[in-house]
Amino acid sequence: MSTSLWSSFFPPPVRIALAYVLIAGLWIYFSDRLLLQLTNNQHQLARMATYKGLLFVLVTAGGLLLLLKKALARERQAGSAWHRSEETYRTLFEDNPQPMWVYDRESLAFLAVNDAAVSHYGYSRSEFLAMTVKDIRPAGEVAAQLENVAAVSRGIDKGGVWSHRKKDGCLISVDITSHTLVFNGRDAELVLASDVTATCQIEAQLQLRNRAMEASSNGILISSTRASGMPIIYVNQAFERMSGYAAAEILGRHLAFLGGDDSAQKGLVDIVGALHLGHAAEAVVRCARKDGSPLWIEFSVAPVRDADGTISHFVSAVNDVTERKNYEEQLEHQANHDALTGLANRNLFADRLRQSMIYARRSGRLIAVLLLDLDRFKVINDSLGHRHGDELLRQVGERLGHCVRSGDTVARLGGDEFVITLAEVAESDDIAQVTRKVTEALAMPLLVAERSLQITASIGISIFPQDSDDGETLIRNADIAMYQAKQAGGGTFRFFAREMNQRMQETMEMEADLRRALVRGELELHYQPKVDLVSGAVTGCEALLRWKHPERGMIAPQLFIPLAEETGLIVPIGQWVLRTACLEARSWQDRGLPPLVVAVNLSARQFRQPDLLATVMQTLLETELSPHVLELELTESMIVDNPEAAATTMHKLRILGVRLALDDFGTGYSSLNYLRRFPVDALKIDQSFIADVATDRGGAAVVNSVIAIAHSLGLEAVAEGVETVEQLYFLRGCHCNTLQGYLYSKPLPAGEFVALATSGRRLEW
Ligand code: C2E
Ligand code: CA
Ligand code: CA
Repeated sequence: MSTSLWSSFFPPPVRIALAYVLIAGLWIYFSDRLLLQLTNNQHQLARMATYKGLLFVLVTAGGLLLLLKKALARERQAGSAWHRSEETYRTLFEDNPQPMWVYDRESLAFLAVNDAAVSHYGYSRSEFLAMTVKDIRPAGEVAAQLENVAAVSRGIDKGGVWSHRKKDGCLISVDITSHTLVFNGRDAELVLASDVTATCQIEAQLQLRNRAMEASSNGILISSTRASGMPIIYVNQAFERMSGYAAAEILGRHLAFLGGDDSAQKGLVDIVGALHLGHAAEAVVRCARKDGSPLWIEFSVAPVRDADGTISHFVSAVNDVTERKNYEEQLEHQANHDALTGLANRNLFADRLRQSMIYARRSGRLIAVLLLDLDRFKVINDSLGHRHGDELLRQVGERLGHCVRSGDTVARLGGDEFVITLAEVAESDDIAQVTRKVTEALAMPLLVAERSLQITASIGISIFPQDSDDGETLIRNADIAMYQAKQAGGGTFRFFAREMNQRMQETMEMEADLRRALVRGELELHYQPKVDLVSGAVTGCEALLRWKHPERGMIAPQLFIPLAEETGLIVPIGQWVLRTACLEARSWQDRGLPPLVVAVNLSARQFRQPDLLATVMQTLLETELSPHVLELELTESMIVDNPEAAATTMHKLRILGVRLALDDFGTGYSSLNYLRRFPVDALKIDQSFIADVATDRGGAAVVNSVIAIAHSLGLEAVAEGVETVEQLYFLRGCHCNTLQGYLYSKPLPAGEFVALATSGRRLEW
């Protein structure tokens, strides 16, 4: 049995009593036996019994006294301990820096308050003791307080955060801890109240700010500098609405993503720069909403530093300024554009011209100013009425807009006067080309008021820098030139510079002559033989165009083919060449010549003609020529413009049975890729390389490798412009297949070519 169980069963007084009864019983039993042994004398026995009784009483009394003394000592000890703990509690209560009080659970009256409560709440002790706990609560919350009191008395809630009112009316938040006790015989509650007003205020403020950020109509984004890539870690609802992106699509990304494709825009560069340099910045940035529509935002980004001054975050406040921007753009457009045609106005035109001149000075290119004035517009306007006159101007503006490239400007200066600036012109011939395009565009009838109108314009052209390097003078000079065009009867153009006019004049005359040349039969074909480098025999020829001008004599193709190309005359001329070459080849066969392959040069424009295939097929049918003896020569530059379309056309021509050769090989792109992708039969090595083979080792290497490439692809290698025996030897050494050049023969008129071919003369070495 354990000691504790023993002591709980027999408390000390019971133990003492039990011991006493046991000792007394033993004493009576043994003392009587002892007495009986000592004597039989009754008298003596009685006396000794009396002594024995006395001794017993004395011992008992002594024991009792001892016990009493011990109990008293214990009592005294207990009393001082109680005193000490009461002291401790009192100190804890009185000197506690936190307000404490005791209140009656029944009446809720304060029973005791400490100094801290008095000083914190501002009530004196006596005022406190005259109040109940209800009196320090704000009126509205008393019910809740009572509820709490009830809860406390049920022992389920011992506190919480409550509002109290101090004597000066100030409300404070206190965190209550309470403890039930008996105080002066009454059921009471001991309360420790710690003031948490400051903490609550911080929390409340944080909450308020949070709510303010959420409720703000401005977009707010927070980026963290602590994570790599400065991700956005917060975005408010306003920004979600503004951008169309959900928060989840924005969080984790860098602010720069807002710029979409246009990450180089200045505003965004400023913002991103500020993030990296750690300073504040403001900018207007063009973003894209999630649906792709433009969103202009006014950005202001500012760094947020932590306690030790390092930047931990950046807060960006953004404002949707799309409407304002649109309005500004609209205003700007109105200020810079002509309301009737939507074209640039004089303002914007002057501005663009200035800009173009800055660029042109750097690039060394030319700028052309074309001043257009419609001929007889006043008459048209008066007869049609102004409304229709306006409609006509609108249509003219639209047509002019289609004649220029994106860097050029078309403006309406007022009335029927238009101006075009061609920025970045490489050479003056390009100006003539645009001028021609403009004239052609205006020459097509316009439909106004259900009437078809034919209009013309007088165009004056000045060129920067040769006619002036100042904008105003350029316009004035263009105006002078325009006046000359008017003087010449309108419907034409004049350059300010005389020599330009002369050149234009010549070109125009040549164009007119060329148109006539076809009709008058001034064109003819010469044929240059192609010789096999093994047998030395003629295997074919190249048809080369010649123009026998009645006054100017023979004109070289380089002089008129570019003009024919530009004017589109090359198409009918090209058809004539093809037809003539096929007819000729047919007649050679009829005369019993061996089947010679005749090569015809195609121009770029011809090659792009959608009906090229039909034309070739029809020509072959009409001339009854076998397609295998027709070869078409193309250049790489025709192919690279639109490789897919070119490949399709070439495949179709090959299916017809026509041979294809790549002309001037080596001067263009000479990409092996092209060679593989395009179905050709022969490579014609450009004469510039052949000229070099005997003198220049680099040139020889090029020719050698071109021939090797041709052979590795199963193509025929043709050397053009072979003039010397050295070249011939070199080419033979490289196993070149075919030779064409003055060494064997110049291009010959048809009759002479037939004579040569029938003579059977071989190339000798
Ligand atoms: P191309 O197709 O490279 O024609 C070869 C040119 O080299 C021809 O000049 C020819 O006369 C010249 N030639 C031939 N052998 C020699 C030689 O040994 N030495 C030198 N120095 N030259 C030689 P051509 O006939 O003046 O033709 C020039 C260009 O005009 C041709 O160059 C071709 O691109 C174009 N062309 C000629 N006829 C036509 C045609 O009917 N239609 C098209 N679209 N272009 C043509
Ligand atoms: Ca050629
Ligand atoms: Ca050539």
